[in-house]
Amino acid sequence: MNVWRRIIDFILPPRCAMCGKILRTDKGICDDCISEIEFLSSPVCYHCGQPLMAVDAVLHSHLLCGECIKPHHRRLFRLSRSAFAYDDFSKKLVLDFKFRDHTELAALLAKILYVAGRDIWELGVDLIVPVPLHYTRLIKRKYNQSSLLAKELGKLTAVKSDNFVLRKIRRTKPQVECSAAQRLVNVKNAFAVRHPERIKGKRVLLIDDVLTTGTTAKECATSLRRAGAKSVDCLTLARVMH
Ligand SMILES: [Zn+2]
Ligand SMILES: [Zn+2]
Repeated sequence: MNVWRRIIDFILPPRCAMCGKILRTDKGICDDCISEIEFLSSPVCYHCGQPLMAVDAVLHSHLLCGECIKPHHRRLFRLSRSAFAYDDFSKKLVLDFKFRDHTELAALLAKILYVAGRDIWELGVDLIVPVPLHYTRLIKRKYNQSSLLAKELGKLTAVKSDNFVLRKIRRTKPQVECSAAQRLVNVKNAFAVRHPERIKGKRVLLIDDVLTTGTTAKECATSLRRAGAKSVDCLTLARVMH
């Protein structure tokens, strides 16, 4: 560690983004706060990642939920996974990362995503794509939290990440301000693939921070599939439990 780094750490030691406790390493959150996170561990539905209260079906040794076992269930995503439940604690974590400039959390959160996405890595991924922000929102916020995660995941996995191929082509209201019915209309045709040749035939992994009803992710996946993606998986930090 160089001398300047030691001086900076002495004057401004790294602190836990959640509780403010001084950290010995620069990882972003203390161990006590990590233990507060409600990680979504097995059993989850192999396809949609929804935690299972009761196992509805087992297909080729994979557990499936009641929705995914339906024969005509249309699968936009190959697999979908989330690392933890969206509750009061994780909400603060996600909002700190998203709006309050706690970008130092990206490396740790990407590691958490990496573990949550183990079934996805097993099937293979060719390209990591974040859910984009409209450029007007990007200017206002200065960074796209999902792009930071995609970039860090790229470093961890040696899979290419592309922050420019999927574009948000019109402004939308925040999905949290919309009813379930409005959400569909709100994001309809809001995304476009700028260079379809960069998507064609690829197994694409879509990255976002929170999965609420999945409407945004589905709209992105539709654009990616139209552009010729071989498959689309979805990996998010948090999932709203219904
Ligand atoms: Zn803490
Ligand atoms: Zn399912």
